[in-house]
Amino acid sequence: TTKASAAAQPLTNADELIGSVETFIFDCDGVLWKGDKLIDGVPQTLDMLRSRGKRLVFVTNNSTKSRKQYGKKFESLGLDVSEEEIFASSFAAATYLKSIDFPKDKKVYVVGEDGILKELELAGFQYLGGPEDGGKKIELKPGFLMEHDKDVGAVVVGFDRYFNYYKVQYGTLCIRENPGCLFIATNRDAVTHLTDAQEWAVGGSMVGAFVGSTLREPLVVGKPSTFMMDYLANKFRILKSQICMVGDRLDTDILFGQNGGCKTLLVLSGVTSLSMLQSPSNSIKPDFYTNKISDFLSLKAS
Ligand code: PLP
Ligand code: CA
Repeated sequence: TTKASAAAQPLTNADELIGSVETFIFDCDGVLWKGDKLIDGVPQTLDMLRSRGKRLVFVTNNSTKSRKQYGKKFESLGLDVSEEEIFASSFAAATYLKSIDFPKDKKVYVVGEDGILKELELAGFQYLGGPEDGGKKIELKPGFLMEHDKDVGAVVVGFDRYFNYYKVQYGTLCIRENPGCLFIATNRDAVTHLTDAQEWAVGGSMVGAFVGSTLREPLVVGKPSTFMMDYLANKFRILKSQICMVGDRLDTDILFGQNGGCKTLLVLSGVTSLSMLQSPSNSIKPDFYTNKISDFLSLKAS
């Protein structure tokens, strides 16, 4: 029946899945690590996949670091991954602007942390804003008017632990007073476990502030948008049907894989539990699910 074929299957034969694709795209947090803690068996799993000739690609919606900074994080966790294999949403924002030939004499207003600034700089774009912008209470005296740079042609919004009202007003002026100004979101993740003690509001909350003030929808460059998938398929010349997307989040990772026409594997080592997957309110069903990626090492043909 339709229902049965749409339901996610527990992964029982990893060999078959591994044999059926040439590339694995791995989400990072919740799949490889949790915060700064490596998940069990990850290095051995990546080694095994490489020894079987699989291409490995790593995609994260966390925009706070550049791919170079992620390279250091992978290294510090003992993972043998080069920065060319890492695609963070910070990199995606700079790559998108390149792809549309965003003019080098225009500027990007950044609401976000260092990763976005680093990637824009590397791509040769002029930017302003960033973590240090604003921060003091804005006194609204009669006649007070906030100036803004008329050369801003794009506002990029990502997760920002220094978020404040100055940034909201500045970015809002850029977008509202220049109808041609782009409104780009690195990602719209709602909440995540930034500490193991609780869930924290992430990128979606900053993006939401600008949706509220501009009444415009952003162009999302991170998961689940197809932008990075198209970019990766083109860069590595891979057929999307030859890709398996592995992630812990239904509305970003699994949807990203499905939007791209890839095979999808949900791991339960991150934010999604089996009961959330199987809840009647969830309509996003991966092809397979399993506890953690190191199950690849033990799940042989039965
Ligand atoms: N955004 C922020 C700020 C995060 O800290 C995280 C995970 O830690 C994410 C997004 C999601 O990252 P990923 O796509 O690697 O799961
Ligand atoms: Ca994740």
